[in-house]
Amino acid sequence: MKKLRISFNSIVPAESPVHLLAFRQLKSYLDFQGAGSSLDISFNLFLADQHPRDMARHIRDQGPDMAAFSVYTWNAVCIRTVCGMLKEEIPGVSAVLGGPYATGMARELMADGSVDFIVKGAGEAVFHRFLEEYGAGGSRFENVPGLLYRRNGEVFENAEDGVFDVGVQDYPLDVKEGDSELFYYETSRGCPFKCRYCSWSTSERVIRFYPREKIRRDLEAIFELRHVKYLGLCDSDLFINREHGLWVTGCINRLNRERKRKGWPEVNLSLEINPEFLDDEIIDALLELPMGANIVSFGLQTVDEKVHRDHLDRRFHKEAYTRNIKRLYEKAARKGLGEKVGRTTFVEIIHGLPGDSYQGFRRTVDYIFSELGMTNFISYRFQLLPGSYFWDHARDYDLVCREEPPYLLVSSDTFSEDDLERAERLVFFMYLFSRVFRAIANYVGRNVAEGRLEVYEKIIDHLSRSYPEVMAELAKHYHPSHEDEAIIRMLKYRTDKDFMELKYKIVREAREIVKEHLRQAGKSENGGPRPRSRREP
Ligand code: SF4
Repeated sequence: MKKLRISFNSIVPAESPVHLLAFRQLKSYLDFQGAGSSLDISFNLFLADQHPRDMARHIRDQGPDMAAFSVYTWNAVCIRTVCGMLKEEIPGVSAVLGGPYATGMARELMADGSVDFIVKGAGEAVFHRFLEEYGAGGSRFENVPGLLYRRNGEVFENAEDGVFDVGVQDYPLDVKEGDSELFYYETSRGCPFKCRYCSWSTSERVIRFYPREKIRRDLEAIFELRHVKYLGLCDSDLFINREHGLWVTGCINRLNRERKRKGWPEVNLSLEINPEFLDDEIIDALLELPMGANIVSFGLQTVDEKVHRDHLDRRFHKEAYTRNIKRLYEKAARKGLGEKVGRTTFVEIIHGLPGDSYQGFRRTVDYIFSELGMTNFISYRFQLLPGSYFWDHARDYDLVCREEPPYLLVSSDTFSEDDLERAERLVFFMYLFSRVFRAIANYVGRNVAEGRLEVYEKIIDHLSRSYPEVMAELAKHYHPSHEDEAIIRMLKYRTDKDFMELKYKIVREAREIVKEHLRQAGKSENGGPRPRSRREP
């Protein structure tokens, strides 16, 4: 019997060339269900900056019957273009889309004649059922829950069939495909929360954990891949269930000890954690993780509790958030890991949040620098994600967004276009202080106890007025979400001799601004009250 030829196409950011987890899972699930023997599956890895025509031709040369894509806001435009070109290259091919964007925009995508099927929600079971019907001629697609298909030119959409329970899935993950240093994995799926900006906010608020035996087996297989150096955990938050999180980090620490014994590099983690979940035991487990290039991001979005409560439908307890981050840094410092932890943890915020304002955004930045004492943060411009609460309620907030994905905010009832520009300017300069002019951030951190943003704003004004060309040049190399790339490009400036001299000059001038600020506030350089001069009364 002729096998059905399927190509799984991961179109990923250029700086992160790694297969999407969804396709590994699909293939593993199909193999486990015994469907693999009738399928001939090939994996393609494309970088989002490749030309869509090259992608379409590469797929064409493999001669597939079906081409599948996992769609996110950032690759949606590219995938639609590739699907259109694919139809020109191989008219009979079936284009199948899945993933979060395809789920939220299913009807709109099907209106495009180059898309044949959409698999909504968790893909494994739906895709398996879909393939069974596809192989049988496609006369009973109405029996596949969560499928959109076209018949006689009309689009049909089948209702989804509840949550795919990963808690009973025992299929071993196929880890063979690819040789990237980064490997994506998840130990749970779903989220019990409903943050209104998130595309999961309108889905069922359920989190399910994979069976421990499966996780242990999968992790062992991944850690047997010598080329893997980073494990990107896709869980919404590993410590939503502390026992689960501790068990997983315990597994990872054990497997890393085995790698060390073999003389292999340890595997670093990249994960998101809500600091409110941290306690002493979790902190100890985190500090045991290798500290080479872990990236732990703390979602904050805004420091305004009212915005969280009234607009984002998100629980946020500032006191617990602040206390636990400080506790992490104190423990790290006691273990001699302060600098490493400081370098590899950062806060994520959003500018342009519905209900927030530019002044609110300033307070958030000041909170990070003044109260948390951190300098690493990333701020994303608000995006209107299909499938999110705000997508359905954009009018309530006068949300005006770009028409193309990723639907970046242009203005809202509380954030004007000017406000967004000001916010982005502030983010850029704060990025410079944390990455390029670290000496300034260190000096401010040592000498200004509170209201640090006000001091930074004075320095920003000075830099903008005195060095407009240098700042414009640095801005050209800056990209907020491609952090490593941006740093590498900026570091070239740091090693340039002329720039080093200029940098020292800028740092000296910034220090004078800080001193003047302290003088005006009646403070000494270490933040305490300024000692009276003998001549003062
Ligand atoms: S933003 Fe994170 S915590 Fe909030 S609903 Fe989405 S996954 Fe859950």
